[in-house]
Amino acid sequence: MGFFDFLKGRKEKEALVKGLERTKEGFFSKILRLFSGRTRIDDDLLEELEEILLSADVGVNTTVKIMSRLHQEIERRRDLKPEDLQGLLKEHILELLGADLKDEENKLTKPHVILVVGVNGVGKTTSIGKLAWRFKQAGKQVVMGAADTFRAAAVEQLLLWGERTGVRVVHQQSGSDPASVAFDTLKSAMASSADIVLIDTAGRLHNKGHLMAELSKVRTVLNKCLEGAPHEVWLVLDASTGQNAVEQAKQFTAATQVTGLILTKLDGTAKGGVAIGICAEFKLPIRFVGVGEGMEQLQVFDKEAFVDGLFEQVS
Ligand code: GDP
Ligand code: GDP
Ligand code: MG
Repeated sequence: MGFFDFLKGRKEKEALVKGLERTKEGFFSKILRLFSGRTRIDDDLLEELEEILLSADVGVNTTVKIMSRLHQEIERRRDLKPEDLQGLLKEHILELLGADLKDEENKLTKPHVILVVGVNGVGKTTSIGKLAWRFKQAGKQVVMGAADTFRAAAVEQLLLWGERTGVRVVHQQSGSDPASVAFDTLKSAMASSADIVLIDTAGRLHNKGHLMAELSKVRTVLNKCLEGAPHEVWLVLDASTGQNAVEQAKQFTAATQVTGLILTKLDGTAKGGVAIGICAEFKLPIRFVGVGEGMEQLQVFDKEAFVDGLFEQVS
């Protein structure tokens, strides 16, 4: 059981797998073809596999890790068949995605404060709106905080999500101190005994020093208001940016403590393999994936469903 499994809906796996369509067509179908066409494991097959992983945006480090592990297995078991190798690959990918093992220890505190960070345009505000809806559907009382005060449109956008979802948005005028908005949001959430607090932030990365200062101020103020807050810092990454997403993960994890990831725009990209590399490299669990712009198109990340989806035949 994952931490946020209570959010899982009936169609969860279906939607996740559908969001992976392009990634499957693009690259993982090549893996299936590679294995199905061979009767023995040779250097050609291994080289081709390595190339496919790299082109699926799994990333160099993680691809090297996967390949050396497979080489070891081949050394150990001379009678290994191509289809066994496929099974081992699948298992290994699942392991690499397993950064959420400690989650059983986590508990939802009340209120549970989730700070959402990431560069511009990755889908922070949209994901917060979708999350607000999911949590509300699950019977939770939610408050959103418009702490992206950098652009007036950002507050408007969150207010729109508030209307759409029927979830309250705490905001001030644009240009005000994000930490102050965060503070007001949490105070108000506590006063109304809310369960979940979602805080939107501005996504500037061009000036890392400033970003770090702003985020740490938001964190300090939240913690002053409620010890232990924020309970989660979720970094939003746009899957379609491939290796750029990896770079952003590097920057943000260096700048602030990140506890989980939201991977957006998995629909319409062939770069879904980036999920594997990012999980493996940063040891962070993917909490949710975005598979479209609509309110319902945010799925709880289920690593088994994800890997099964990747290795399923493309119909
Ligand atoms: P400082 O602004 O650099 O002195 O840092 P603080 O940690 O004292 O506060 C950071 C921001 O959070 C402030 O600018 C306020 O906007 C907000 N803040 C802190 N404490 C309070 C408070 O008690 N009430 C309200 N409304 N905002 C607060
Ligand atoms: P922010 O700057 O990080 O807050 O990003 P926004 O939430 O404003 O989103 C930027 C754009 O990405 C918007 O047009 C969203 O509709 C779109 N978007 C966000 N998540 C997804 C997703 O999972 N799939 C698709 N196709 N578009 C998304
Ligand atoms: Mg935004």
